[in-house]
Amino acid sequence: MGLDEDSLDYHREDPPGKIEISTTKPTNTQRDLSLAYSPGVAAPCRSIRDNPDDAFSYTAKGNLVGVVSDGTAVLGLGDIGAQASKPVMEGKGVLFKRFADIDVFDIELDENDTQAMIDSIASMEPTFGGINLEDIKAPECFEVEEQLREKMDIPVFHDDQHGTAIISGAALLNAADIAGKDVEDLDIVFSGAGASALASARFYVSLGASRENITMCDSSGIITEARAEQGDVNEFKREFAQDTAEGDLADAMRDADVFVGLSVGGIVDQEMVASMADDPIIFAMANPDPEIGYEEAKAARDDTVIMATGRSDYPNQVNNVLGFPFIFRGALDVRATEINEEMKVAAAEALADLARQDVPDAVVKAYGDQPLQFGPDYIIPKPLDPRVLFEVAPAVAQAAVDSGAARQELDIEEYVEELEA
Ligand code: NAP
Ligand code: MG
Repeated sequence: MGLDEDSLDYHREDPPGKIEISTTKPTNTQRDLSLAYSPGVAAPCRSIRDNPDDAFSYTAKGNLVGVVSDGTAVLGLGDIGAQASKPVMEGKGVLFKRFADIDVFDIELDENDTQAMIDSIASMEPTFGGINLEDIKAPECFEVEEQLREKMDIPVFHDDQHGTAIISGAALLNAADIAGKDVEDLDIVFSGAGASALASARFYVSLGASRENITMCDSSGIITEARAEQGDVNEFKREFAQDTAEGDLADAMRDADVFVGLSVGGIVDQEMVASMADDPIIFAMANPDPEIGYEEAKAARDDTVIMATGRSDYPNQVNNVLGFPFIFRGALDVRATEINEEMKVAAAEALADLARQDVPDAVVKAYGDQPLQFGPDYIIPKPLDPRVLFEVAPAVAQAAVDSGAARQELDIEEYVEELEA
C-alpha cells in the first residue's frame, strides 16, 4: 500500500529516524564550553550532590521522559523485539514533543527477564523526570509497573493501560450523560481482559462505576468465579470474576448498557448490539479493525447508539495522544513523584468537561469542517484542539498538589497563562 512506502521514505530521509538532540545553551566560545563541560560543570554537580532536587534546576531531568519498551506488545504487531520497536518509541517521542514540548529518550531494552527489566528501569531514575512504559505485554506489564511505582520517586505510567483507561473513561462519563444514565448504574461488559481492558475496568470503578456491574470476557468467554476457582484465569483477571453462569460474549451483552471492546476485530454482530439495553454505549476499540464497525453498530437499532472506536476516520476516536502528553506535562511541572488515581481522574474529568464546550472554528477547520458539538458523535475532544493542553495539564498538576504527589507548589492561574503564552 501507498502508506507503507511513504512511511519508509519518511523514516529513511536523511537523517534516518525522526528525532535528534539539540543544545539549549550557548557553545560559541572557549568560556561557554568550560561552563557546559569541564571544569565549570563541577559546580552544578556539587550542588546536586548536596541537594538532589537541584537536578531539576541544573539538568534537563524535569522535562525529560523515558519511553521504555521491551518490544513484546507493539501496536498490532505483537512481540517484534526491542530493536524493531524503536520506530514506535521514537514516534512516541515525536508526539510528546509536538503536543506538550516534552523531551524523550526512547529506551528499547533487549531483556526477557521481568525482574532484570524492572531493575534496569529503576536504576535510570537519575536521568528522567518520568517514565512512560510502552508496549510491554500482559500480564508482565502489571508487575513491571507495580514494582517500579514502588521503587521510583518519579511518575511511572504504562500508557497502554492508563492512557486507554483515561480517554475511554472521559468518553464514558459523557456517553452516560447523553444516554441519561448514572455511571454507578451502568451494566458494563468488556470484551478482552488484557492490559488495556483490566486497567480500564479498574479506572471506571474510580470514576464511579460499580465493580459488581462489570462483566469481563476473555477469549474463553465470561470470567466467572467458577473459572477462577478452577485456576483458569490469572490473578489479574480474577479481580473481575463474576458469580454468574458460564457464557459467551453474546450472553454477557444481553441487556448491557455499555460494551467495551479491547480484544480483536469483528467479533460483535448486529444481533448482539440489538440485544443491549436502550441507547447503548459501544466502545469498539480493537485496532485496526474494531469489534464491530461504526455503520454496522449504528444500523443495528433505531434508538441512539453512542459509538467510539480507535479509528481516526470515524467520530469519537479514543486516541491515547489525548492523554499522555498533557498528563506528563502537568506531572512534570509540579515535579510529581507519581501519577496517582486522583491525577488520572482529574485528567478524565477535564477531557469530559472540555468536550461539552463550544469548539473553536480553527479546530473545526482542522477536522474537515465536520460539525463538532457535544452529542453522540462528539463525546471527547480532538487531539489537535490546543485547549486540551490548557485544560488537562493544569487539572493534573492541581490534583498532584491536592493529593500530596507534588514536590513543588504551583499557582494554577499563572500556570495556565504560562501554558497559553
Ligand atoms: P492484550 O493485553 O493482548 O489483551 C487482549 C485481550 O483480548 C486478551 O484478554 C484476550 O483474551 C482477548 N481476546 C482475544 N481474542 C478474543 C476473542 N475472540 N473474544 C474475546 N476476547 C478476546 O491486548 P491490549 O493491549 O489490551 O489490546 C487489546 C486491543 O485493544 C488491541 O486490538 C489494541 O489495538 C486495542 N487497543 C486500542 C486502544 C485505543 O483505541 N486507544 C488502546 C489500547 C488497546 P485472553 O486473555 O483469553 O488471551
Ligand atoms: Mg502503545
